[in-house]
Amino acid sequence: MLRRIAFLTMTLLVTLGVLSLHGNPISSAAEIDDIKAKIKKHEAEADEAVKEFEAIQSWEDTARKEILEAKAKVDLLEEKEDKLTELVRRRAIEMYKGSGDPLSLSFLTSDAADITEYDRRTTYLETVIKSDTDTLGEYTRVKEELRVIKKVNLARQKELAQARKNLERESQRIKENLAAAKKEYAKIQGNEYNYYGRIPIEGRYCPVNGPVSFIDSWGFARSGGRRHKGVDMMSPHGTPLVAITSGVIDRIGNGGLGGITFWLRGDDGHSYYYAHNSRNTVVKGQRVIAGQLLAYVGNTGNARSTAPHVHFEIHPNGGRAVNPYQWVRPLCRQ
Ligand SMILES: [Zn+2]
Repeated sequence: MLRRIAFLTMTLLVTLGVLSLHGNPISSAAEIDDIKAKIKKHEAEADEAVKEFEAIQSWEDTARKEILEAKAKVDLLEEKEDKLTELVRRRAIEMYKGSGDPLSLSFLTSDAADITEYDRRTTYLETVIKSDTDTLGEYTRVKEELRVIKKVNLARQKELAQARKNLERESQRIKENLAAAKKEYAKIQGNEYNYYGRIPIEGRYCPVNGPVSFIDSWGFARSGGRRHKGVDMMSPHGTPLVAITSGVIDRIGNGGLGGITFWLRGDDGHSYYYAHNSRNTVVKGQRVIAGQLLAYVGNTGNARSTAPHVHFEIHPNGGRAVNPYQWVRPLCRQ
């Protein structure tokens, strides 16, 4: 997987090499179309990287659950171990003292009127010893099992952290290179494209004014049994977030799962939610126009440990959220 991403980065660098070789200006329409096709291809590849990122996230969730389960087992066994240690210690003392404990020698011999009574006591003693031995056997077995679980989990955690670090570094590189290519492209195009190489459609803008990659993650499992009610648009930290349409900022948030957030009530009647922002540049009640800067991409709230992205929601007529993927895709992929 990581080798593939490294390959993607390489092809991207080759594309950038082509761009810089041509220098300025590029006049041929065929050449411009060629660059456009290449940018499109790399955007699709960046989306693939997001898919892999999502897979790692869910792998991590599973691993975390397994670690918690193993920990509960360890606690239980340690409690059992304490009890067994205490039992063995008590037995040893009682044997030494020759007290009335059933396991002591005196229990076998004292007042054993006849051989039948002696046999009865011996059988009882054997049963007690066997049950202790079984417990000890089980204990040894589970203890070994536990040692293996702990070892595997530790190895997996290390592997996971490394894979994640590599993926984040590589996808960050892809995005930065893509941003550079887009900027170069916009420069070549002059005034035709002044909005990160994208044209608004029917007055609507891509909420992210910069490189962005995303997949349809509607309904994906999230922590605490929640379901994903938006689209996670991955973009470098600090990328401008703009108004998808004109409207009024009717709510500002700071804290909880969303971190730094705001709600835009569009003049079209729909409500739009932007979360995990690093910073908002608007205040409650402010009127904004389509494409206006509202905030910057970040990873506040429960996105602290993930790559920076905007969690974007659409609530038609202010009602329940619907899948925003189909809405933003044409706006952000052109
Ligand atoms: Zn999200």
